[in-house]
Amino acid sequence: METFNVEAVVLKTDDFGDANRVVTLFTKEFGKLEVNAYGCRRARSPLSGATQMFNHISAELSHGTQVDTLREADVLHFYDITRDLNRLAYASLFFEIVNRMTLPRQADVETFNLLMNSLPALSTRTPKIIALVGACQFMETSGVQLNFSRCVHCGREIVGDAAISLIDGGAVCNACVDFATESRPYPVGLRKTFATMLEFDWRADTKLQFNSKQLDAAENFFVDYVHSVLGSALKSVNFIRELEALKL
Ligand SMILES: [Zn+2]
Repeated sequence: METFNVEAVVLKTDDFGDANRVVTLFTKEFGKLEVNAYGCRRARSPLSGATQMFNHISAELSHGTQVDTLREADVLHFYDITRDLNRLAYASLFFEIVNRMTLPRQADVETFNLLMNSLPALSTRTPKIIALVGACQFMETSGVQLNFSRCVHCGREIVGDAAISLIDGGAVCNACVDFATESRPYPVGLRKTFATMLEFDWRADTKLQFNSKQLDAAENFFVDYVHSVLGSALKSVNFIRELEALKL
């Protein structure tokens, strides 16, 4: 039996059978991998602790005919995210976006590093802000990035309030707005919010402060955009909306 080792972040888990789990890993070496972890939901399984979402793990896998199997796993770092529902909801949103918008077996160290950088922040800082910064930076490298600073029709730099279109791929200046498809308002504040998110340096760990209205607009924008690219809704959004309703 041929085995190989990976360093990974646990992106998603799905239970199957009595005690098994499909674990979606985002590995440093091969990008996203879905692996079967047999028996990992039994309390005494050596895999039970490691196969939790948001863990940073090292793992030994073996090749299967269709799906690889998780043989051994060690937790390199556990992040305290799941105890706080709001933290869990927003961390899930970011992880779901990465999971749904990546293909398996496409090595992508940039996304692995982004996940790794986001985890300490998701466990300690304002989760909504961190999840949106993560999503914004992820989309910039995912091949479906939007143009936030220049008009997608004429190429001019956007000044002041303008419009933005998901279908056209980004900002639309006031001179071109009549040609835009389903545009929505793009106020200066939202443009600055996106710019701050894109420029955020995880290592510098600087303070992030946003106007809550612009933050909500950014969230709606990303959720709608991912929805339009995938053609189906994100599950974690329902979870976020349910939590918001409980607070009313
Ligand atoms: Zn224009």
